[in-house]
Amino acid sequence: MIYLDYSATTPPNIEVLNTFVEVSKIFLGNPNSLHKLGLEAKNLIDESTKQIANILGVKEKEIIYTSGATESNNAAIFGIIENYKMRGKEIITTKLEHSSIIEPLNYLEKKGYTIKYVQLDKYGRVDLEDLKNKISNNTVLVTISSINSEIGIKQDLNKIGQVLEKYPKIIFHSDITQSIGKEKVDLSLVDLASFSSQKFYGLKGCGVLVKKEKIELTPFIKGGKSTTKYRSGTPSPALIASTSKALRLAYDNFDDKCEKVKELHTILMDELTKIKEVEINSNKYSIPNIVNISILNIKPETMLHALEENDIYISTKTACSSNNYSDAVYTVTKDDNLSKTSLRISISHLTTKEEILEFINVLKEKINVLSLNNNAK
Ligand code: PMP
Repeated sequence: MIYLDYSATTPPNIEVLNTFVEVSKIFLGNPNSLHKLGLEAKNLIDESTKQIANILGVKEKEIIYTSGATESNNAAIFGIIENYKMRGKEIITTKLEHSSIIEPLNYLEKKGYTIKYVQLDKYGRVDLEDLKNKISNNTVLVTISSINSEIGIKQDLNKIGQVLEKYPKIIFHSDITQSIGKEKVDLSLVDLASFSSQKFYGLKGCGVLVKKEKIELTPFIKGGKSTTKYRSGTPSPALIASTSKALRLAYDNFDDKCEKVKELHTILMDELTKIKEVEINSNKYSIPNIVNISILNIKPETMLHALEENDIYISTKTACSSNNYSDAVYTVTKDDNLSKTSLRISISHLTTKEEILEFINVLKEKINVLSLNNNAK
């Protein structure tokens, strides 16, 4: 198997899986229970939270556990607009957000909120002057992801944060799901940040919402009890301990891992640019882990399944979208044909040079076969 879909999800690290199994066996109490077993489970959660907070450079009480980044994004958006509804009804975002940001904002627009899309430059980066111009007395929230999941474009969160610092009443949320484990994150100027364990060799079903202490949030789950009042329900010591383990392991030998991904990215790009049918949609601001391409005249799902026949796995758009038209590719390229035919190849430090070369060989073969089929029609 050649797995080139690491931005959709990562295989869990075996040590993380072992943590999950061991904690499930040993810490069987409900962390909310007052007896010894409950206390042991709670202490383990507290230790894990301490480690997560240390790695992220935030306070322990600023960590909220959720089921994943989708829930974190929803909790942040709805929790903020409810809590700060007296401050205004305008939200600023970009056209490069994940569906778990876009859909809540579309819903809010129908409820009378104004959603403003900040202009992006030709590389898909936030135009800071336009951001300033879009801010009004009515702006309550700015939500901008650190890295777009389809094309891999990275925003400068600190520069955006510096603009927003001058408006202390505006809350700044960032979906950092594609950043964690791929780059070192600086959350000093961000009020809220969302991510999912499954993107850094952790388990599916656990996520985090970082919420700075000074920010209040209306929880949308009522009743029950957890580690914080912001998202209730019995917390899972096994999922939380595995998230903490996955996060620590993700930043072990980090520079070496990044170096390896850069080298693999160079090989991948060199080979892709030699194939005349391939257009590259990623650009110099895309992280090396994500390469978005289009093969005009071949439907992306046809190519995806053709590669699958050879046990090679890539993505059309992202795993979380229901159609194959890429708004993100359109936002950056302004080209309808590229947006209809985009494919995402996402690599990791676990990828090998041999896998990339084999993928390229098979890709060329499939382009030939599928183009012939298209011409014969
Ligand atoms: N945001 C981004 C940028 C993502 O890439 C994803 C996963 N594709 C999510 C949010 C949602 O994560 P989850 O499915 O784990 O909730």
